[in-house]
Amino acid sequence: MTKITVYKLVGYTLGLALFAIGSIMLTVTLWNAWPAVADSNDILTALQAYLWTNELDFGSGVRLRLMEVAILSTAILIIGLFTTVLSRQVFHRGKYVLLQCPFCRNRWKAERARTWATCPYCNKLIQPQQ
Ligand SMILES: [Zn+2]
Repeated sequence: MTKITVYKLVGYTLGLALFAIGSIMLTVTLWNAWPAVADSNDILTALQAYLWTNELDFGSGVRLRLMEVAILSTAILIIGLFTTVLSRQVFHRGKYVLLQCPFCRNRWKAERARTWATCPYCNKLIQPQQ
């Protein structure tokens, strides 16, 4: 059975954007920290110490410790990942699904879910609900 994955565009875009921002922030933070910790024997401990002691100045009085930036980036990354996962729906081809028109509330069966369909009752182009 073929799997069909439908993404809700807004959630998917937002999720990917958050994921990208989180990854970039985390990469930049670690990238900057790396030269200072790469020579030490215990990289994890050194990295932790470095992240706690160094600050990032965002200007206009906003200063965050690198550790806080790292935690924030991870949080954004995870939220992004969740939003992406939650905004996708997997359908199986060949399985009939029940669709509902948001206007006339009529239901009908279709071979697979579609993001856009024409309602057979009121003939409107709709995004069917399930
Ligand atoms: Zn309708």
